[in-house]
Amino acid sequence: MIKERTLVVVKPDGVQRSLIGEITGRFERVGLKLVGVKMIVPTKEFIETHYTIDPEWRRITGEKTIKSYKEKGQTPPSEDPLEITGIILNHLKNYMITGPVVAMVWEGVHAVKIVRKLVGSTEPLSSDVGTIRGDYVIDSYQLSDKDGRAVRNLIHASGTVDEANKEIDLWFKKEELIDYKLVQDKILYDVNLDGMLE
Ligand code: GDP
Ligand code: MG
Repeated sequence: MIKERTLVVVKPDGVQRSLIGEITGRFERVGLKLVGVKMIVPTKEFIETHYTIDPEWRRITGEKTIKSYKEKGQTPPSEDPLEITGIILNHLKNYMITGPVVAMVWEGVHAVKIVRKLVGSTEPLSSDVGTIRGDYVIDSYQLSDKDGRAVRNLIHASGTVDEANKEIDLWFKKEELIDYKLVQDKILYDVNLDGMLE
């Protein structure tokens, strides 16, 4: 059984909305294990490092954004993906340093995909009902772009196992992550559910 670890960050709006417990509870109740947690106020430099940890992020996000503008019949602010990401990154830097954020590392099988499923898609307007972004926040690219700010989507979660490993290394020192057993691990992962009856 291959366990994965993934990074979750409750963004400043999530902390200000008093949603730390609600968000944490969703990962706990699905059966994931919290192996690291801390509260910090990030710097702009740190946020830029975080979002550009994947060297392709600027290009991919820029292209994705241009495509979504065109799908809605709107004109993107630029045809250059890197210029678009420059704007998005600036907004993210202003947003993420406004107050404390809570960074967490969650462990379990398929942790990366399970967390992304619970978090929901990036833009709250289209995040499914039942997901964190779908249930607890209303915002859209249309509104955030008009106001010249980042979309307030409460939470960051690693997109892939590779991204998760890099992000965890960035946010946490080795000694801040704790290996331990949870009693429920047996029920979630053991092949035989024996030993239950007295
Ligand atoms: P995430 O992994 O779901 O957070 O999404 P991405 O990694 O694709 O993007 C990171 C952040 O960039 C998001 O949380 C948004 O703040 C911002 N972002 C991504 N795509 C768009 C977009 O199309 N428009 C705008 N305005 N912001 C975007
Ligand atoms: Mg991402």
